[in-house]
Amino acid sequence: MVSPEGLPDASFADEIHRIVSSGQLTNGRRVREFEEAAAAYLGVPHGVAVSSCTAGLLLTLRVLGLRGEVILPSFTFHVTAHSVVWNGLRPVFADCEPDTFCVSAEAVRTQLSPRTAAVVAVHMYGHPADIPALEALAAERGIPLLFDAAHAFGSRFNGTRIGGFGTAEVFSFSPTKLLVAGEGGLVATRDAELARRLRAARNYGDPGTYDPEVLGLNARMSELHAALAQRGLESIEERIQQRNQIRARYERRLREVPGLSFQTIRPGCLSTCKDFSVLLDETQFGASRDWLFEALQRENIDVRRYFWPPVHRQKLYREVWDGRPLPVTESVSDGVLSLPIYSSLSDTAVEKVCDALARAQEFAGRNGHTLR
Ligand SMILES: *Cc1c(COP(=O)(O)O)cnc(C)c1O
Repeated sequence: MVSPEGLPDASFADEIHRIVSSGQLTNGRRVREFEEAAAAYLGVPHGVAVSSCTAGLLLTLRVLGLRGEVILPSFTFHVTAHSVVWNGLRPVFADCEPDTFCVSAEAVRTQLSPRTAAVVAVHMYGHPADIPALEALAAERGIPLLFDAAHAFGSRFNGTRIGGFGTAEVFSFSPTKLLVAGEGGLVATRDAELARRLRAARNYGDPGTYDPEVLGLNARMSELHAALAQRGLESIEERIQQRNQIRARYERRLREVPGLSFQTIRPGCLSTCKDFSVLLDETQFGASRDWLFEALQRENIDVRRYFWPPVHRQKLYREVWDGRPLPVTESVSDGVLSLPIYSSLSDTAVEKVCDALARAQEFAGRNGHTLR
């Protein structure tokens, strides 16, 4: 079990005790303080803390009052699409870029229709999506642009932190992410009215009048979660640096292994490296991704397939998919294997993973035909 990022030491027990004995477990000052600190870190005027990124996406689409279609990637975690469907909107999938694995602005453009109500892009593994092209497209159409920024707390685009782009950006603080609250999320926006409506929406839709203005949820963050997130904020920059060093170490070693390539980090982009995936070319590697997945699992290496199957191939979405081919999504999703990455991962552990991977490739390479 990998311990979540940036969790505090035992001294935190006192803080927990103070919160519990104060009797104020929700709607208190710690959530407000965390919202202010997170907004200041991200460089945005408004941060609305919520119980999860899922709830944040769902409520943001809700308060925007949309009808029709939402264009989004299929190469993502399925909940990006769930938030669309929960709002009675139709998800329309667009292909991703072969180098950054983020949704392609060009592909989004080909999916535009008179029914398009919004675009939701994802900063994949923390790599910023094609922000200028997506913002231009949304402005041209006069439609909202949201970013599922679950992976991207601390990412930068041309020196500016992710958070203030598009209409809103939605972060996750669940345990596999960069900043951990236990459970939690944050909607960052420059739009004061949107922030106000989201504050009502997370509180049953009730702005405090007992006369709800939107069909809300209880999607508040508790004081305990806010206190955890606030602690994690102190070390976030350091942990992003460590993850980038680990990624660089993996790439230096694995560049020599035939059939492996990596997500490109575009100039001007800083990724959080929420995940690190190798992209495997079966023919050159000599084995399929799934063969390698199992081979490394047998060596007790915690590998994942982020993200496979792509959303349009999942049970819930097969029928919803418009059938337009998503060739890049298919090949990336079939080729990715995510290796262990967390800020305290030691150099020795990285070398061990690389050794196992190189050994597997040598075995496959000697075999003469592709192993499945
Ligand atoms: C983890 C994740 C989410 C969901 O975040 P929660 O805070 O767990 O709701 C949404 N989108 C992406 C891309 C994710 O990886």
